[in-house]
Amino acid sequence: MSAAGRAPPAGDDDTGFGVYIHWPFCLAKCPYCDFNSHVRERVDERRWLAALQSEIDHYAALAPGRTVTSLYFGGGTPSLMAPETVAAVVVAHPEVPEPTRELRFGPRFGLGLAFPEDAGDTKCVTKQHGSVNVCISEDDWPVEIEPVFRISSVIYQGSKIIARYVDGRATRYFANFPTGAYDRVVGHFRGVYGPPQLLWDRKVMLSDGLTVDNPVTVWRKTYPATGTIVYLEVRRHDDVRRDFADGRMGVVRLYIDGTDSVFAGMSTGNFLLLR
Ligand code: SF4
Repeated sequence: MSAAGRAPPAGDDDTGFGVYIHWPFCLAKCPYCDFNSHVRERVDERRWLAALQSEIDHYAALAPGRTVTSLYFGGGTPSLMAPETVAAVVVAHPEVPEPTRELRFGPRFGLGLAFPEDAGDTKCVTKQHGSVNVCISEDDWPVEIEPVFRISSVIYQGSKIIARYVDGRATRYFANFPTGAYDRVVGHFRGVYGPPQLLWDRKVMLSDGLTVDNPVTVWRKTYPATGTIVYLEVRRHDDVRRDFADGRMGVVRLYIDGTDSVFAGMSTGNFLLLR
């Protein structure tokens, strides 16, 4: 983590400040790289998290009353951080303003929604002795953004939404869009929820070996009564499905922190059955 010294105290002209989190690990060292990055077989993430939290606490004490308006994850390869480590770092910034509205995919799709007994336009695969259902439905994006989500991919055709239901309740949603529409999708959610809480600047490798920027824009909402944290994420390149990032598709996903991926236990064959 870097910081350029003591932050000035809060005042009427306080416009907030950003925090940079450095994750100095990569799977391999690129020959041209002069970043502070290192290859390690194993990283003790508990120790790293403790160190990050200690550093955050230290600089928080030097900036009383100031507002953190963005978190920036760099590296190295910060996408290698375990989700729990990222979440714990994020929770270390309770002053980041959050949306007041419930985070949703569209009017019809919200977390906690009951598994649809009447299938209608929905096709599902059942897993884990019936406790998990993964379903593909027609979307209900607002008309101004819906065309962006009409795609042709190996997992579905058209404008669809994938949902994961655990014990009858929706825990995750997923949809792809063409990579070139990233700014438009982010703009749509900005219009609905306001400024995002997190901006991650990541690099990912495509299947042809090319390394590209993969910005991620994140809205977060916490529910103190239950301790539930919900994230809405837009990624320019879909790097959540496979080892390599998708050069053609971006992804938007909505999920309850700590729940399994939409794709956990699912194969490409499962999705072929749903088409
Ligand atoms: S992935 Fe990025 S930070 Fe890591 S070695 Fe390659 S260029 Fe450097």
